[in-house]
Amino acid sequence: MNDLIIIGGGPAGVAAAVYAARKQLKTVLIAEEIGGQSTVSEGIENWIGSPKIHGQELAKSFRAHLDAVKGDIVTLVLGERVAALAAADGGFSATTKTGKEFSAKAVLIATGAGRRKLAIPGADKFENKGVTYCASCDGPLFGGMDVAVVGGGNAGFETALQLLAYAKSVTLLHRHKDFKADAVTIEKARAHPNMHILAHVEPTEVTGEQFVTGLKYLDKDSGETKELAVSGIFVEAGVIPNTDFAAGLVALDPIQRITVDPHNQRASIDGVWAAGDCTDELYHQNNIAAGDGVKALEDIYLWIKKQ
Ligand SMILES: Cc1cc2nc3c(=O)[nH]c(=O)nc-3n(C[C@H](O)[C@H](O)[C@H](O)COP(=O)(O)OP(=O)(O)OC[C@H]3O[C@@H](n4cnc5c(N)ncnc54)[C@H](O)[C@@H]3O)c2cc1C
Repeated sequence: MNDLIIIGGGPAGVAAAVYAARKQLKTVLIAEEIGGQSTVSEGIENWIGSPKIHGQELAKSFRAHLDAVKGDIVTLVLGERVAALAAADGGFSATTKTGKEFSAKAVLIATGAGRRKLAIPGADKFENKGVTYCASCDGPLFGGMDVAVVGGGNAGFETALQLLAYAKSVTLLHRHKDFKADAVTIEKARAHPNMHILAHVEPTEVTGEQFVTGLKYLDKDSGETKELAVSGIFVEAGVIPNTDFAAGLVALDPIQRITVDPHNQRASIDGVWAAGDCTDELYHQNNIAAGDGVKALEDIYLWIKKQ
């Protein structure tokens, strides 16, 4: 049996795997890919030690670090998605979607999170044809056009500010009367002459033929349905943790994040740890995810030595 299964190849999983290799814990790292969420980013400016790094370069550096230390201690199983995780024979077994099974004494879940999709008619049909989930990837394609941002949190306002550099106009739609974003960010956006903000509205339909031409929404104050003429719709409606496969095994909070002890990243049952954006950690950043992975691994090492 392996000592450890790490599920996930973002900063949390990779940092833990590097430490596992150095501590000689027999480990299997299962991940769809190495790099994680920010591989799509054109420029990460806060990864400590790199003033600016492209997401793809960050992913390459993760892979290079793994290759340099893994030897025959850490096995990489890539291109696989874990579909089930269960307690088995004094340890745990992880089964992938393609039916491969791996077992270990301990498990570290580092599966991060994915974007919450816009669940209205037309949103799926026009994904990548005007509906997008990544402003830093697709923003420049909408230069000189009218675009909408759905979501009134920090991510929504930051996306709007980013888009104002290229777009003719940016209209941000928020479903509540009050915004969740920081006051400074909201004020910065409001001050821009090409920025429009619609509060207390609900998007209802994406319209278009081949590409997006509009976004219908319900004005909750007047009860009227209106339509914005836009070519791009940037969705910033929050994230969904990738924890479905662990739901029956460990405790999750009301928004499906794995609850952990922040001192050591332990989940609710002995032998399972979680790190990064899949946990109820308050802040979602690469450095934090990597730190959580390291913290978990230090604790896993001591736990395994006591078994
Ligand atoms: C567009 C964008 C830009 C960002 N820019 C920055 C930035 O500039 N600075 C910053 O600090 N943070 C940034 N972030 C946030 C940062 O990317 C995350 O906080 C960080 O990636 C979280 O790391 P993680 O290891 O917890 O999870 P993730 O990076 O989400 O990695 C999860 C890993 O698990 C794998 N996985 C998921 N489910 C399964 C499964 N069932 N089976 C197997 N593998 C699975 C995935 O393939 C991936 O390898 C950005 C995020 C986005 C989306």
